[in-house]
Amino acid sequence: MQTDHASPHILDCLIIGAGLAGCVLAHSAERRGLRLVVVQAVSAEPTASEVAAGLMNPVTGRRMALTWKAKELFSFLKQFYPAFEQKLQTRFFYPKAIYRPFDSLKTQNEWIAQSAEKYLSDWIRVILPPEKPFGRQVRDDFGGLLLGGGGFVDIPKLTEAYQMHLKAQQKLKTDNFDSAEAFFESGCWHWKGIKTKHIIVCRGAAERFLDFSFLPFSVVKGDILDIKIQENSAFEGILNRNGWFFEHSQQRYKLGSTYEHTDLSSIPRPEAQEKLLGQLRTLWLGKVEVLKHQCALRPATKDRRPFLGLHPQKPNFWLFNGLGSKGSSLAPFFATHLLEAIFDEQQIDKSVDLMRFLNPDNR
Ligand SMILES: Cc1cc2nc3c(=O)[nH]c(=O)nc-3n(C[C@H](O)[C@H](O)[C@H](O)COP(=O)(O)OP(=O)(O)OC[C@H]3O[C@@H](n4cnc5c(N)ncnc54)[C@H](O)[C@@H]3O)c2cc1C
Repeated sequence: MQTDHASPHILDCLIIGAGLAGCVLAHSAERRGLRLVVVQAVSAEPTASEVAAGLMNPVTGRRMALTWKAKELFSFLKQFYPAFEQKLQTRFFYPKAIYRPFDSLKTQNEWIAQSAEKYLSDWIRVILPPEKPFGRQVRDDFGGLLLGGGGFVDIPKLTEAYQMHLKAQQKLKTDNFDSAEAFFESGCWHWKGIKTKHIIVCRGAAERFLDFSFLPFSVVKGDILDIKIQENSAFEGILNRNGWFFEHSQQRYKLGSTYEHTDLSSIPRPEAQEKLLGQLRTLWLGKVEVLKHQCALRPATKDRRPFLGLHPQKPNFWLFNGLGSKGSSLAPFFATHLLEAIFDEQQIDKSVDLMRFLNPDNR
């Protein structure tokens, strides 16, 4: 049988999952003029994109290292999100200063020495003496570090606005995609009356039980709190050390987040709430009221790098996953990267290509 690949009835791609990965990928595909439909399941449990704080932090960890590919990722997302906001006429990208108070004189000294390093100097705005830039409640007896280039993406707002856009364009289908109901024939995938050249699955943590279950996922549960603080202690920017605390929407603060590897249930545990409030007390002394406690699974991977690539047995069946705890900074750059691999036949960066687990010579 002959295939008509230019037929308007054949999609370029069917994208499965409308979390952050699926939405960013679909928007990037639309920008290329590709024909697509996104399939989103009604999920019983909260997904990562529904609860995430969306922080983008170029300098992370106890040792304050520059995050992997910071320069490429952050310069990409600075263009990407404002254009996406404009298309959806919705605000969800918030560049903000990040303040990291030092916990000792030793850390202060280490940081003063380290801040001169070229690779960090682009991101450090200033090293402050104890100045309490976020109000009297901040515990910064040893001063702190003010970082630029970061901020947060309101991921639930982004996905909601983009799903509405897809719905209005009749490009959103509510269904639970099961690859057993799809078949590849004459160069096309067929699924429930839809014909498409490519299928790209963006199913987050659920993927560990699905078509790409052979990959080393290492999902991590995260708990997060919505907090109200007293009006006279409100502050701008992001407070960060052993977690973070910041104003997310008017007078609502986010406090997070935990990293739990064993209990992967969807139940928010009181111990997690206590832990987060305990961490906050080492950072900030104001009074807080917990409004909401949520949790979900981050689609993290064993080597902490995303998973991109082609299924080893299924033709034109691709994966975009493994965004872990850094979805907002990773998704824009790697969505474009994957589309270039699929539609321009570019090579996938070996550090994110899922082939690294299939063929050791390919690393
Ligand atoms: C508590 C917490 C805090 C976080 N904080 C941050 C942060 O500060 N900064 C940051 O960058 N990241 C953060 N993250 C991580 C971020 O949430 C993830 O990196 C990102 O949201 C992952 O998006 P995803 O689309 O890959 O997965 P998901 O959000 O899990 O989305 C997958 C989607 O696929 C759908 N789906 C699954 N199976 C099917 C199917 N068979 N058919 C159709 N649809 C299907 C699901 O319903 C879901 O909508 C946090 C996560 C948590 C849990």
